[in-house]
Order: sequence, then C-alpha cells, then structure tokens
Amino acid sequence: MTSNIDEFIQDVVNKGTCTGCGLCVGMDESGQSFMIDTARGPSPILHKNHKIPELILKCCAGHSINYPEIYMDFYGKYPENWLTGIISGVYTGYCTNGIIRRNSSSGGVLTAVLCSLLESDQIDAAIVVTQGIPEPEKASVSIVNSVDKIQAAAQSVYVPVSTLDILNKLDPAKRYAITCLPEQSAALRYLQKCGHKQALSIKYILGPYTGTAIYPAAIQTFKRISGVKKNDQVVSLKWRAGEWPGYLEIITQSGIILQSPKVYYNFLIPFFVTNASLQSMDFSNEFADLAVGDAWSPEFESQGQGFSVVVSRNEKMTSLIEEMRQNGILTLQPESMESASSMHGHMIDFKKRGSYIRNRVRTMFGKKAPDFGYKPARIGINRILVEIVISTIFILGRTKLFRLILFVLPESIIGPLFNSLRLKWKNVSRKTKRQGLKSYEVTITRK
Ligand SMILES: Cc1cc2nc3c(=O)[nH]c(=O)nc-3n(C[C@H](O)[C@H](O)[C@H](O)COP(=O)(O)OP(=O)(O)OC[C@H]3O[C@@H](n4cnc5c(N)ncnc54)[C@H](O)[C@@H]3O)c2cc1C
Repeated sequence: MTSNIDEFIQDVVNKGTCTGCGLCVGMDESGQSFMIDTARGPSPILHKNHKIPELILKCCAGHSINYPEIYMDFYGKYPENWLTGIISGVYTGYCTNGIIRRNSSSGGVLTAVLCSLLESDQIDAAIVVTQGIPEPEKASVSIVNSVDKIQAAAQSVYVPVSTLDILNKLDPAKRYAITCLPEQSAALRYLQKCGHKQALSIKYILGPYTGTAIYPAAIQTFKRISGVKKNDQVVSLKWRAGEWPGYLEIITQSGIILQSPKVYYNFLIPFFVTNASLQSMDFSNEFADLAVGDAWSPEFESQGQGFSVVVSRNEKMTSLIEEMRQNGILTLQPESMESASSMHGHMIDFKKRGSYIRNRVRTMFGKKAPDFGYKPARIGINRILVEIVISTIFILGRTKLFRLILFVLPESIIGPLFNSLRLKWKNVSRKTKRQGLKSYEVTITRK
C-alpha cells in the first residue's frame, strides 16, 4: 500500500497540482515525513517507512476533494447559493481594540476571535500562521497558547505555507482552533467525519477568504528589482504593514526599507501566482466556522483603518461573535449576503467559473487537475473568452522573457501601471464576469 501512496503523492507533486498544504505529512502516523521549502512553496518529502493512510486519496487538495459529499456530511444539505456556501450570519466590521485592528490584515476579526476563544477557555491553544518564523523571510504554522502569540500572528501571509503538517503534532485530548485556507478547511471536515482523532481535536476552523497567493520567488525578485543586493538579508517582512489596506514592507540588514502599497504589489500576481490559486473553486472558505475577508467598498476604503467582511457559517459561531459584539470586542453591522458578495464579485467569479474552466482546459491537454465533485451548470461563451485573456496573461507572466519586464520597469512605474490596467480590465470584463453569476447553479459530477 505504501508504494501506492508514494506514487499518488509524487504524481500530485510532479504534475504541478500540489498546494503544499502539508496534509499528507500531517497524516503520516510515523511522524517521519516532512515538508521542505522550494521556490514554488512547501513540498512533501515522504519517509520510506511512512504510515500515511489511504484516506489521503479523498482529501488531497491537489487531487480531489468532494465538496458535495462534504456538504452533505457536514451540513446535511447543499448550499442554496454555491457562490457563498452555507451562511448563518454576515457582517462588516472590525476589532474594537485599535492596536489589534491596525496590526491586522483587514479589521483584526480573526485575531480577536482566536484571543476570545482562548481567554474564555473554549480552546487550549490556537494553530496560527506567523510571518517571520523561523526566519524573517519565511512563515510557518505553530501551536500557541497565549494572546500575545496570537496577536503576533496577525496579518495574512500571501505565500504558500504548509499548515496541515501540524496535524500529527496535535494532542487529541486538547481543544484547538485553527486558521487555514479554504481547501484545508474542507479536508479537515472530511477527516473529522472519518473520525481522525487529531482533526477532531480542532474545535473551531477560522479562515480567510482566499483569492490569490504568490510563490516565494516573488520576494526575491521584488528585492532584486528594487536594487537590494542578493546577500542583503531580510530582517523584517510584513505583507500588510501600516494602515489598511496596507503595504508590503521589507526591511533588510543594511537598513533598506522597501514599501509597496497592496494595490501596487499586486503586479507580482501575474508573474508568480500559485497553481493552487488558479485551481481552487473555493474563495470564501466554505467549511470554516468563520470566514473573513477585506471589506472592499468605496465607503470603507475611504475611511482606512481596516474593515472586514465576516461570515459565520453556523449558529454556534454566530452566538460567539454576537456575544463579542455585545461585549464591545467587535464592532459589527449586519450585512446582506448580496452586498457582501458584491465586494468580491470578481474573485468569486475567478474561482467559481474561472478555476473550473482552467482545470477543464488542463485535463483537455492531458494535464492533471483537481476534482471538486461539481461544476458550473452553465458557462457562456463570453466568459470563456474572458478566461482565455486571463489565462494567457498568467501563462506569459511565468515565462522568463516576460519576467524581464520586472527588471526594466521600476516598481514605482509598474505598480501604478498594473493597478490602472487592472482597474480598466475590471471595468471592461465586469459585465461578462457578473453575467449569470446571480443565477449560478452547479451540476454535481460525483455522488
Ligand atoms: C493567501 C491569501 C489570499 C487572500 N485573498 C483575499 C482576497 O482575494 N480577498 C479578500 O477579501 N481577502 C483575502 N484574504 C484574506 C485577507 O487578507 C485577511 O486575511 C482577512 O481579511 C482577515 O483579516 P483579519 O484582519 O480578520 O485577520 P488578522 O486578524 O490579521 O489575522 C490573520 C489570521 O490569519 C492567519 N493566516 C494568515 N495567513 C495565513 C495563511 N496563509 N494560511 C493560514 N492562515 C493564515 C493567521 O494565523 C492569523 O491568525 C486572503 C488571505 C490569504 C492568506
């Protein structure tokens, strides 16, 4: 059996669909497999005597996660709206504590909820992803049991981090809350249903909305195009420094401080976007108890300071955040799902239709693509044409020739230029991307 699992995981890695989540390593009961860092994010190294159960075949995000099946198992039903998943409460708001709010990605809601769970003894520890551990340029997952350490983990990490390799280090007798990306939440739900002891010790799954992540090589390139010498080490890296929406800030040993506003450093995305971002069909973390994103809207953006869109997926979580609201820990206002979704229309479409098209094209060309057990019931020809443009940009962006653009145009030019092209493209493609989205339906492809 071991060799089958070896072959399976090698296949996922070699064929380019591994998301680097670390689940296979975390499921290894021998505890001897591990993840290594590569230019394309974390990658598993299996020990020859590993004990990874066959269960991995059903929850590896690079291969297959049967969303409809997990919906039925976990919620007992399919969502009425497949764009957003099952919803109990929707809000916009922020953590009332100004320091947490300022240090966070958007409104500090994830940090505040983790702290509250720990302080009210509903969990023994939180599993968080922290930038700067084990070294400033890297990020890693850790189990923390103090409010200080939860707060130190605030902010998003936009490069792939192996989060689920922590699984075999969890004590089944303890209670944890975890922050993880969408497919990781779905995989954990699957394992919980199968009675996986460590997965069951995770009592709360919290997660960000997840659009795109970039490969770590983007950081090296960003340093180089900004004139930082190769041997000038990074001593501090923050993805969302300063006031919301924040800026990428890199400080080097020699004292160079690089800063690029979030809307500008998005120019790195076409060149370094991860395969996982392009293949995922889950933007809003459909199996997290609590999913949080940036509240992108002119009203909030004009105020700065940090606003989140907050989606609770069950009554228990809704009660918890309502209680935090009543206690003044969170400032929240109820929001309709329609207005919350309109803040993310492009990204929802990018995942729910775009990823399906991209995955389908991969399989048409004999390449591997993950299967999530459903597909959009209808996709118009215009949407396919839009996807051809998007995918062409991603394909070209990965070529050495196109990456040369980064070395010719300084960030101060390419940042604003990319942002203006992005906004123009958003306007041009808005109609097609939103068309049919309201009536989005799916066909279940796997029972
Ligand atoms: C890769 C990525 C892509 C994203 N794309 C979008 C997007 O397109 N649109 C949008 O609205 N929002 C997106 N987000 C979410 C957004 O950046 C914020 O994380 C979210 O708004 C929560 O903000 P907060 O202030 O409540 O979180 P904070 O209070 O700052 O807490 C962040 C928490 O998230 C955890 N975390 C950070 N990075 C990771 C990671 N890589 N894996 C697992 N846990 C992590 C940390 O443990 C921390 O506890 C993305 C996040 C990530 C990580």
